[in-house]
Amino acid sequence: MPNGNDDLKALIRTISDFPRPGVQFRDISTLLLDAAGFAAAIERIAFRIEEKPDFVAAIEARGFVVGAALAQRLGVGLLLIRKDGKLPGATIAEDYLLEYGADRLTMHIDACAPGARVELVDDLIATGGTAEAATRLVRRAGAIVLGASFVIDLPGLGGAERLREQGFPVRSLIAFEGG
Ligand code: AMP
Repeated sequence: MPNGNDDLKALIRTISDFPRPGVQFRDISTLLLDAAGFAAAIERIAFRIEEKPDFVAAIEARGFVVGAALAQRLGVGLLLIRKDGKLPGATIAEDYLLEYGADRLTMHIDACAPGARVELVDDLIATGGTAEAATRLVRRAGAIVLGASFVIDLPGLGGAERLREQGFPVRSLIAFEGG
């Protein structure tokens, strides 16, 4: 079904069997290379955010690219949610399961004051495990998740629905059916 973001969808490249056989990798690097497309993506994400947050909380690594541009557009700070062992200060951590194995997200314990309102950002939501771990993390720091924004949703994997059960709006620009 056509929608208003088909122009952006056309700028995303699909690479089969990366990083593993059977995965259809949705590559935003081709969208980022297109100045007008990248700018339009950020503008359209910003347009959907009804309530201005105190911070954009962006998930390493592709989430940093989208999150940094969005934070600038909204005029708010950028809170980095990083993989384990990358942040130099005192951190809190949340573990989450991947299809094969587990991973860990961290943030600086003093990154935001209790009660800070954050918009969570990543390039893509699939099963939702990464974003859910990020939600747990910022909530443990005392922050309030206002919403979560993604360039791409893979609705077949149910992550956006799973995240909505946490009680905040989950927005995306582009959906790819079938994972
Ligand atoms: P998940 O935790 O399953 O929602 O996976 C989301 C994270 O994995 C995001 O940080 C994405 O960048 C990455 N990811 C998962 N599946 C894909 C895919 N098919 N193409 C590109 N990135 C993906």
